[in-house]
Amino acid sequence: MSTIAVTGSASGIGAAVCLRLEAAGHTLIRVDRVNADIEADLSTPEGRQLAVTQTLKLCNNKLDAVVCCAGVGVTAPSSGLIASVNYFGVTEYIDGLQDTLAQSGTGNAVIIGSVAASSQVANPHAIAAAMLENDEAKACQIAEACQAPHIVYAASKYAATVYGRRTAVSWGKQGMRLNIIAPGAVETPLHQASMDDPRFGEAVKNFVAPLGRAGLPDEIAAGVEFLVSDQARFINGTVLFIDGGMDAMIRADQF
Ligand code: NAD
Repeated sequence: MSTIAVTGSASGIGAAVCLRLEAAGHTLIRVDRVNADIEADLSTPEGRQLAVTQTLKLCNNKLDAVVCCAGVGVTAPSSGLIASVNYFGVTEYIDGLQDTLAQSGTGNAVIIGSVAASSQVANPHAIAAAMLENDEAKACQIAEACQAPHIVYAASKYAATVYGRRTAVSWGKQGMRLNIIAPGAVETPLHQASMDDPRFGEAVKNFVAPLGRAGLPDEIAAGVEFLVSDQARFINGTVLFIDGGMDAMIRADQF
């Protein structure tokens, strides 16, 4: 059985991932702002450093996998926060743990991205470019000026996906893997908040996947359980859409 760190463990997809992995017998290290083994704010460099240091302490320098679920949506208090949590809260946490993951022999990571990453607004966008240059101040500045949280959200998920695929290439040489799950709409507090928002509610409600419903958190967690397992040992750098067919609907002729 493995030791696995999960961010965003207190709610929604992260909570479902923890339930599933714990039921399978894995040892978990839960990271969130509150109600977690490690209470850390992944929107700040200090919080990310605290999360890394405490994770290394709790796992006793033996870590098999990292699952990054923590994220904020379009109703976040500021667009800079979307950039900081959804991109830098992922990359700095994974980067800080990669040496320890490498020692596992089968170390791997899963990033929860989004089907929004493949939308037209995400790529190529100046916010995503600043993120990929690792320039948080610039990314946040452009994000705040952009005044369109849905564009910032899509760009953050696009950049996190590109980071994941680039990292998968370099990790592969050490036998390590990194994969991305791109959920469509999933019934969580984040999704409910966007449906309740007067700016985005109608668009979110009308954006329905071919399967005709939103997903359940455990349907995303099932994908995570598979990707961190030995059954997925030859899967690296992939983007697994768990979206009821939404990506196929958006861009049926591209893949
Ligand atoms: P959620 O709001 O239920 O859970 C998100 C968790 O992240 C919360 O526990 C929250 O406390 C934590 N978090 C947020 N900011 C943090 C910070 N600064 N530091 C530490 N933890 C922080 O949302 P969810 O829907 O379960 O989202 C999980 C992931 O799935 C997110 O990355 C989200 O972008 C992605 N996603 C969700 C949907 C959806 O429809 N729900 C669709 C696509 C992608």
